[in-house]
Amino acid sequence: MSKKYVYLFSEGDATMKNLLGGKGANLAEMTNLGIPIPMGFTVTTEACNKYYDDNKTITQDVIDEIHTTMNKLEEISGKEFGGEKNPLLVSVRSGARASMPGMMDTILNLGLNDKTVEVVAKETGNERFAYDSYRRFIMMFADVVMEIAKQDFEEILHEMKEEKGVELDTQLTAEDLKELVVKFKEFYKSRKGEDFPQDPREQLIESVTAVFRSWDNPRANVYRRMNDIPSSWGTAVNVQEMVFGNKGDTSGSGVAFSRNPATGEKKIFAEYLMNAQGEDVVAGIRTPSPIEELDKQMPETYREFIDIVNTLENHYHDMQDMEFTIEEGKLYFLQTRNGKRTAQAALRIAVEMVEEGLVTKEQAILMMDPKQLDTLLHPAFDTAEMAKHDVIATGLPASPGAATGKIAFSAQEAKERHEAGENVILVRQETSPEDIEGMIAAEGILTVRGGMTSHAAVVARGMGACCVAGAGSVKVDEKKKTMTVNGKVYSSDDYISLDGSTGNVYAGKIETVEPEISGHFGTFMGWADEIRSLKVRTNADTPHDAAQAVKFGAEGIGLTRTEHMFFAEDRIFPMRQMIVARTEEARRTALEKLLPMQKSDFKGIYEAMEGHAVTIRFLDPPLHEFLPTQAKEIEELATELKISVDELNGVITDLHEFNPMMGHRGCRLAISYPEIAEMQTRAVIEAAIEVNEEMGWSIVPEIMIPLVGEVNELKFVKSIVKKTADAIIAERGAKLTYLVGTMIEIPRACVTADEIAKEADFFSFGTNDLTQMSFGFSRDDAGTFLKHYYEKKIYDFDPFAKLDQTGVGQFVQIAVEKGRSVKETLKLGVCGEHGGDPSSVNFFHDNGLDYVSCSPYRVPVARLAAAQAEVRNPRKK
Ligand code: PEP
Ligand code: MG
Repeated sequence: MSKKYVYLFSEGDATMKNLLGGKGANLAEMTNLGIPIPMGFTVTTEACNKYYDDNKTITQDVIDEIHTTMNKLEEISGKEFGGEKNPLLVSVRSGARASMPGMMDTILNLGLNDKTVEVVAKETGNERFAYDSYRRFIMMFADVVMEIAKQDFEEILHEMKEEKGVELDTQLTAEDLKELVVKFKEFYKSRKGEDFPQDPREQLIESVTAVFRSWDNPRANVYRRMNDIPSSWGTAVNVQEMVFGNKGDTSGSGVAFSRNPATGEKKIFAEYLMNAQGEDVVAGIRTPSPIEELDKQMPETYREFIDIVNTLENHYHDMQDMEFTIEEGKLYFLQTRNGKRTAQAALRIAVEMVEEGLVTKEQAILMMDPKQLDTLLHPAFDTAEMAKHDVIATGLPASPGAATGKIAFSAQEAKERHEAGENVILVRQETSPEDIEGMIAAEGILTVRGGMTSHAAVVARGMGACCVAGAGSVKVDEKKKTMTVNGKVYSSDDYISLDGSTGNVYAGKIETVEPEISGHFGTFMGWADEIRSLKVRTNADTPHDAAQAVKFGAEGIGLTRTEHMFFAEDRIFPMRQMIVARTEEARRTALEKLLPMQKSDFKGIYEAMEGHAVTIRFLDPPLHEFLPTQAKEIEELATELKISVDELNGVITDLHEFNPMMGHRGCRLAISYPEIAEMQTRAVIEAAIEVNEEMGWSIVPEIMIPLVGEVNELKFVKSIVKKTADAIIAERGAKLTYLVGTMIEIPRACVTADEIAKEADFFSFGTNDLTQMSFGFSRDDAGTFLKHYYEKKIYDFDPFAKLDQTGVGQFVQIAVEKGRSVKETLKLGVCGEHGGDPSSVNFFHDNGLDYVSCSPYRVPVARLAAAQAEVRNPRKK
């Protein structure tokens, strides 16, 4: 039998969401539940995918099936499509597997033509209503199907209102609207060169095709990327009999939520308008009434309404968002779906539904989108304030939060103005580690270049600072201190505002509000912790970040990037001294100065972590990153170092690398200069011994060697670590256990993981570098070309933000398998940025990892994602 592409609502159910889309599956389910809905049918997501596979054409077999099903709908409704009596009118709406509100197209009143409009006028005794519906349909069809701009029609409408001397659409008479229909049709013909289609069947097929086409419109593509919806899902199309809320005083339309979507309060929240269509309610031209009013107007309908809302919530075990219409006293539900809600409301609803016995804790855990927790942890813009400002540019939503301030064009400037009491936004072409102090001082960071794992993004997420990265349309002139967007120039005196959750950049100052964390948050996260088996650690480089992460529930540190500590003002000099040293002796002298600083940092971090595990990674980045780039700074440094500018320039030239990310970095530094590893070992071990003594703890420090691709590299560095550590422990007469493990971030390390595991106490996947090296994409530059990949559907997602499970994921799987084949209990973690991404966390859970590690502000997100992964695929017995 050939494949079925069209289903009557009575042929489906809620489990068929992938095929029928969310809306279609729910309409089918409501049919089964006996809820009054206008009848109809769904053209499947597979038909949409077929449309794309067939070069964007809808094939005859699908067309035939739509027609046959339409015949059935005529029978069921007792109406005739295009009929001279009792004509059937339908709506045509998109409906993907996941709801994508407002992203795709809708057409209402389809089936109207010059003849049926007359029949409708006669049968309803309401000519005005018939012609009003017809002119709306012509406009929608022209806009959605034929891509003639809606504004052109609105202008014609506007001209007519002026001509007739009226202000509101509702003041136009039936005669006026008839005239308007003629004008609309004339305009349509002038643009298309053909008449407005009169055959309802032709209107229908064109409209279904247009909805398929709208799956690929730019806003839908952007929405999908932001919400992890693959383009391969396609959209279904729902064709449903029209019911009219604008048929007079016993008709009306409204929207309803089974609980309050802003606060989560258990109270039906609904609004309606009598004598109006759904779009009038949403458009906000007339103020809708609260649903309680309906009790006075139509008590029976009101009771039926309340019953249905309760039935739907109990049936779906979740808060429902519904649309309804009353047509001449008869109530219809047009759709239901799990309602979108604020993070606060989501927590309250989940917790209360468990208390009410409506859902289990496991079901409650699945009700919350982990990414939504972000908004509870960062300041946010006041929504009403935000609506008053223009979006001037959009970049990547690199680190959530809201920030507002005047523009600072360099880290130094940001720091100075911050110290002088100003709120600033640091705007840079791109940031380098040198900018760290400016980044800390700034309220938010905006960069023109860079992706989700660019330096700015990683550091900002670590600090919980708002960051928009890679806003390519912004032109920055750091010398002139100007920023230009769309021809408008902004200077240091101008305010801008950043929304790190959407990537939007606004002109002007927008007030922010501190998020409130209610008691439900704690209860909910407690359940997540009870359920999950994957542990959650944090990436933290300072005691402050570590303490923040502990507050957010981190169970240890999975990565301390020691290099970040060297950028502070009081450390950069000895660090530079170490780098420019040309002899081991000179290097050791500089390292001596760095030792006490590192040691005190580590002590601070151990203390902040209250005895939890701490993984410290040895120096990783190419050394030249620490050197100044500007002539003035080079001069200053040469003076400080007591060498000539020429000599220093010589060293800088020597350190220059064509491809530093693949250059002298990671364990390669310790292999060239073992004394660096010695100093770092000493700092880690001495700090641990001292804190254990002071606090009576038994910290087991974990030393992590970066960028190992060959077991002998690890063996070499490990021997230095062991020799140094064991000598210190013996010397101090202390008892201390420590571990030496490695990052797995080079493809070669994955495929030789069985050899490496023999030398390693643990593996931690550095999925940032592993992604970079698997794809051969530079993590700092990929943003510039990946956008073309999204446009051309080569990739749906940024592989630096969401693990590429098919490719990079295989390297992880190979390493897990090979590593555990020689050491069954080998501890496995992840410390790349993917450790805080829900779908990647799910993958790490499924592949048996012990923990994920992410920036402090993503710890709650990872805890919830880990719990959800456990519910979906239980690892606990
Ligand atoms: C990684 O590569 O995934 C990692 C965690 O290390 P870094 O980002 O510091 O290179
Ligand atoms: Mg790395």
